[in-house]
Amino acid sequence: MRHSYDVLIIGGGVAGASVARELARYDVSVALLERNRGLGMEMTSTNMTLVCQGGDALTFRPGTLHAELNVKSIPLWPGFAEELGVPFKRIGGLGLIRDKADYKRFLKMYSRAFKSSLKPDAPYYIPEGSFKPLEFLDKRRLRDLEPEINPSIQGALYDPNLAVTDPAELTRALAENARANGVDFFLGYEVKQVEKTPEGFRLEAGGEVFETRYVVNAAGIEADRVAELVPGARDFSYVPVKGVLVDLDEEASTVLRHHVYLLQRPLEPHVKAAVPLLDGRLRLGIYLEYTYRSDREAGREAVDHDLRVIEEIAPGRDYRRHISRVIVGVMPLTNAETGWHDFIVDIPDHVPGWVNIVLGPAGVSAAPMLGRRVAELLAYSGLSLEPRRGFNPRARRGVEA
Ligand SMILES: Cc1cc2nc3c(=O)[nH]c(=O)nc-3n(C[C@H](O)[C@H](O)[C@H](O)COP(=O)(O)OP(=O)(O)OC[C@H]3O[C@@H](n4cnc5c(N)ncnc54)[C@H](O)[C@@H]3O)c2cc1C
Repeated sequence: MRHSYDVLIIGGGVAGASVARELARYDVSVALLERNRGLGMEMTSTNMTLVCQGGDALTFRPGTLHAELNVKSIPLWPGFAEELGVPFKRIGGLGLIRDKADYKRFLKMYSRAFKSSLKPDAPYYIPEGSFKPLEFLDKRRLRDLEPEINPSIQGALYDPNLAVTDPAELTRALAENARANGVDFFLGYEVKQVEKTPEGFRLEAGGEVFETRYVVNAAGIEADRVAELVPGARDFSYVPVKGVLVDLDEEASTVLRHHVYLLQRPLEPHVKAAVPLLDGRLRLGIYLEYTYRSDREAGREAVDHDLRVIEEIAPGRDYRRHISRVIVGVMPLTNAETGWHDFIVDIPDHVPGWVNIVLGPAGVSAAPMLGRRVAELLAYSGLSLEPRRGFNPRARRGVEA
């Protein structure tokens, strides 16, 4: 069978679904191809579920797309989630202070937070009212919020803005809204071949042929391999990083109510954080390891690390007896040698009409802005984006394989 569209999106994670939903606002024909028989089943389902909303987003390197898309998404999130009917719960974040060294680092973060975003002419302006100020808590106030916290902890930097969502549910909602507004979905269609044509591109997936003028490559950890299908489209690189997460059962998960984390000490490679999920479980992590992309093994060392995190934060229980599941996610890290990750959302110089997306850390948080950025890029490269009459931002229609 032969299909023809203005835009084809490869990949049905949060990135592809955000783009599909944004393009549904315009009078263009769009389809999304996903190799799995469901949406959001890869990186989008294997993360900490955090929506960076305050101090955390402001620690991202200024000038990067990673910082820009995240900071600009901050004020959009409440309306975005409400319109799509997905959860957005402000659980608040507590950065624990063990000693003077921690305190000094938090002071630096605190003084940077929001500083460059509050003036109306700031490049990443956050309208006042979109966030609450961060606050230092002493030991007593910290224990009021988290009674089971380790008594050796001296205090905390409290960020009341931090939120969680359900990234897989968000992806489904974005896709179902796009579907209700005319976007087609092909699940179980793996793109295996792409050919450049005078008009655009010809793709083969699921034994069928798709012709299109524009392609958005949102294939997650496979974005490099998909880009390699077209000469010149792969003008980026990244390394795969595995993150191992441990969820506790509901009984042990009552120990914390906020996102609680410890700063990494020099040369410590792993993140130390605990996040109360929307389903009542506490997620621990993140044991991080450079690896190959198909590695989904959670070794003993990784699980032990994640358990040590909660033992350090709230000692006194035998958490090992309360493990409910272990999750492994693999994400792309650009600029691994400097540690300053950045997103890639760009058109390669020699392949007009082709957009690459590589997210990695904090990609879910950037979802409200991502679709807009891709629509801008497509418009720059000649796609006419006339608003679609009758676009309904709340409508839903099922997307099935
Ligand atoms: C351990 C960990 C913790 C994280 N924590 C957070 C957090 O707390 N907050 C946050 O904002 N972000 C977090 N992230 C990052 C976030 O999960 C990612 O940025 C986001 O999910 C990336 O979405 P994506 O759509 O680019 O990729 P994916 O969700 O992987 O989607 C890509 C899709 O492309 C499909 N695909 C691949 N190749 C093909 C092909 N040839 N044909 C058709 N389809 C194809 C795949 O099947 C997949 O469904 C975390 C990530 C990890 C690993």
